[in-house]
Amino acid sequence: MKKQSKNVKNKPGISGKDSDKYFRPESKEELVKILEKHDDELTVIAGGTDLLVANYKNLYKIDKWLDLNWLDSFKEIKFFDDKVEIGSMVTHERLDKLDQIKEHFPVIQEAAADVGSPQIRSRGTIGGNIVTSSPAGDLLPPLLVYDAKLKIISKDGEKIVDANEFFTGPKQNVLESGELVEKIILPFEDNESRGAWVKIGKRKALVISSISLALNLVFNDDNEIIDAKFCVGSAAPVPLRIEKAEQNLKNKKIKKIKIEEVAQIVSDEISPIDDIRGTAAYRKKVAFNITKSALQEVINQ
Ligand SMILES: Cc1cc2nc3c(=O)[nH]c(=O)nc-3n(C[C@H](O)[C@H](O)[C@H](O)COP(=O)(O)OP(=O)(O)OC[C@H]3O[C@@H](n4cnc5c(N)ncnc54)[C@H](O)[C@@H]3O)c2cc1C
Repeated sequence: MKKQSKNVKNKPGISGKDSDKYFRPESKEELVKILEKHDDELTVIAGGTDLLVANYKNLYKIDKWLDLNWLDSFKEIKFFDDKVEIGSMVTHERLDKLDQIKEHFPVIQEAAADVGSPQIRSRGTIGGNIVTSSPAGDLLPPLLVYDAKLKIISKDGEKIVDANEFFTGPKQNVLESGELVEKIILPFEDNESRGAWVKIGKRKALVISSISLALNLVFNDDNEIIDAKFCVGSAAPVPLRIEKAEQNLKNKKIKKIKIEEVAQIVSDEISPIDDIRGTAAYRKKVAFNITKSALQEVINQ
């Protein structure tokens, strides 16, 4: 039998609901009380699909756990007249399967459907994807093209942060110790909008993107583009909005879009790196091609 490491021997008293090392609040009030006492000592666990992999060999070093899985309010998706609020504990599977998400925010639905495998989608959450802040996080570009806002909660209260300002570097963001993402707020668009999502990876399933692209165009009644949002993933330390391409598309009728010109702008604007998932030159070329296919998809819709 394999000998158990001395670091992982059972430690009676550190697990279970009443332990002083593991907290599982069942209401927001309970959560705030825990944050008031322990905020800077806690490691938050949502679905665990990033956290447990990243800390696989050092789980015993995590001193105090804050488990969000018992907080039903963090799992709610609430629709209002002008927005939808998605709890940070909503899984990719739910985002993929919910008809209203598909109807109003198809780029999010498609990206959620592309995450990992059925097992990962049923455990992994939108909040975990955001807070991991990987440049390859599939939901990040879609959130940026839909102008998402993040509701952050801590013992000091609540605040709203624009998703465009949340990501600061690879696996880095503006969240401070003791702050949690509670909700993702997505405003409804009054006008007709059409979007596209493209993810390129080395195989078809269970793949981290080599490059991805989210696109959302808003049209007036004359089929003229009144707002355009482009965001590329895995091509920079943070998900990258391509403002030059957005400006190029604004105020254009759909038939006047110069697909190759926009694709060239996107390819020129990104400064990707060489890594195991692809070289910088490959990513630039692919950025050109996926911009063309995303625009074509929107034109055909
Ligand atoms: C095999 C495999 C395949 C994968 N494929 C993909 C893929 O294709 N695309 C992709 O984007 N990702 C992929 N992932 C990564 C991962 O599944 C996703 O990023 C997932 O959304 C993470 O969510 P989680 O709930 O599991 O987060 P967790 O692992 O529980 O947490 C991740 C991080 O966020 C923190 N955290 C979680 N929730 C909150 C919150 N509400 N407030 C504050 N901090 C919080 C945790 O402390 C931790 O640091 C894959 C992972 C694996 C293991």
